[in-house]
Amino acid sequence: MSNDGPTLNDDSFRGGRAQTGHTHSHGSGPDHSHPLTPGQHAHARGRNGRDQPASGGGHDFDLPALPEAVDVFDTTLRDGSQQEGLSLTVDDKLRVAEQLDHLGVTFIEGGWPGSNPKDAEFFARAPTELNLARATLVAFGSTRRAGVRAEDDETLRHLVEAQTEAVCIVAKSSEMHVVDALRTTLDEAVSMVVDSVEFLRANDLRVFLDAEHFFDGYKANPEFSLRILAAAEEAGAEALVLCDTNGGTLPYEVERIVSTVLGGFETQVGVHFHNDSGCAVANSLAAVGRGATHVQGCVNGYGERAGNTDLSAAIPDLSLKLKVATIPPERLELLTPVAHHIAELVNIAPDPQQPFVGASVFAHKAGLHTSAIARRSDAYEHISPELVGNGTRFVVSEMAGRSTLSMKAAELGLELDSQAMASVLDSLKRLEHEGYHFEVADGSLELLLRHSTGWEQDFFELESYRVIADQSEGNSTEATVKVLVGSERIVATAEGNGPVNALDGAVRAAIGAHYPGLAGVHLVDYRVRVLDSARGTGSVTRVLIDSTDGDRTWTTIGVSENIIAASWQALSDSIVYGLLHAPVPPGPIAGG
Ligand SMILES: [Zn+2]
Repeated sequence: MSNDGPTLNDDSFRGGRAQTGHTHSHGSGPDHSHPLTPGQHAHARGRNGRDQPASGGGHDFDLPALPEAVDVFDTTLRDGSQQEGLSLTVDDKLRVAEQLDHLGVTFIEGGWPGSNPKDAEFFARAPTELNLARATLVAFGSTRRAGVRAEDDETLRHLVEAQTEAVCIVAKSSEMHVVDALRTTLDEAVSMVVDSVEFLRANDLRVFLDAEHFFDGYKANPEFSLRILAAAEEAGAEALVLCDTNGGTLPYEVERIVSTVLGGFETQVGVHFHNDSGCAVANSLAAVGRGATHVQGCVNGYGERAGNTDLSAAIPDLSLKLKVATIPPERLELLTPVAHHIAELVNIAPDPQQPFVGASVFAHKAGLHTSAIARRSDAYEHISPELVGNGTRFVVSEMAGRSTLSMKAAELGLELDSQAMASVLDSLKRLEHEGYHFEVADGSLELLLRHSTGWEQDFFELESYRVIADQSEGNSTEATVKVLVGSERIVATAEGNGPVNALDGAVRAAIGAHYPGLAGVHLVDYRVRVLDSARGTGSVTRVLIDSTDGDRTWTTIGVSENIIAASWQALSDSIVYGLLHAPVPPGPIAGG
């Protein structure tokens, strides 16, 4: 144990009080009680030794200190939004918080009130505009400044005014940072913690202490780092959160240090990792394996530099593999949709290779794998993708064999005979060579497969379209389409803010009266990429359009040397797919 610094059996570090029952009170603050969170309940059970914690809960790990549950603390709206290029309006922040609540996290850190007008506005609007069903909103701040009384400190005042039930304050817990960055004494740093926590507790707030640079500080001067925790415990902090602020700590160090801290304090221990060594999720699991019951991080792992602990991975690792309760089990299948929804809100394209929730992580490309997985789905998948709301996707590409395609066809209820199969494979190879990318365009792929069975869409027949962009008219774009619906010829014109928008308007104007189901179909995203032509004759443009009918979403594709032609292909596929799947069976209205 000599490597671990003080063992904490020494009472000089201890200020903690035993926790009993289903509420607990903290330190010297007023007698303020709140129901125990699942993580706190697990912490208390583990410490009191009444029950063996979750070991034996269905995993094969020798982890006697593994708790039954942890509290998931999401910090996307504070630490996560430090990511370069990530900027959220107050409305975005409210929507992200709703998604996190929907997923079922325990705590949502909303921002730092008083540090900027946006966060101030967020906390001003949250009480009336944010209806959280289960999560507790937390305001973030720091301890009082050196040499300032807590009552006179602006940061602490803003925390009280934020009107949340709980606050999280950061305290420097590394000697080097106190001396070099704060330029104050170690004793003053300890007093800053005591005064701040006591002040916030006296204002009836639940307090989490983020011990900044804890792991690095502990390695250099464990005694001081532990004094900070002891001060927070004594003053009534609800959880001591050990932060790896520089993100360079490795799991072996985490296990040792978390065990030591848990051996010396009564208070719940949490962890906050940054991913600079690629170990943030592993470190979180290592800490929980040693008894930590509060895990901070961000859905999708957002954050500055290499990001924070990716909760989209930590949650299923804990729940599914370690059998430690995190979010409510029935919400686990919301993980992929919520992660993607949040990616959309923060306007960062989801990473297709992100563990558990990425679009590619249950996709199988090699022909060998796809035929094997068709026989046994667990042969090449570490979990069943449905558990986290992700789906097994079979990538259709030139590499794919017949088994992939026949499975896709079976999914759609289509029977492809060997001749149809050969023709689809041929078309796919040719089209992918031209720049099509059917693995991201499920809607167009389905139409292609249907086409190979002899099916032709008969919703409308295009005679011609024309698009005019007029700079003098405020950059407005006008589109005219001429179509046949049955034997009726219709000409319609619409304006839009771009060619796709104008064409979409014109088609709707032309055929909308015949197909009421079209009103429920909306384009949600439009992406253009210029590709080097595989034939070397110049570049081609690839257009992808995402559409939704509120129930399902689909992607369609168009490729052409002409951006308008590529856009039309993707748009008309989107509309045909939407009509094909419209909830009310489509068909020309009688007499129309
Ligand atoms: Zn951080």
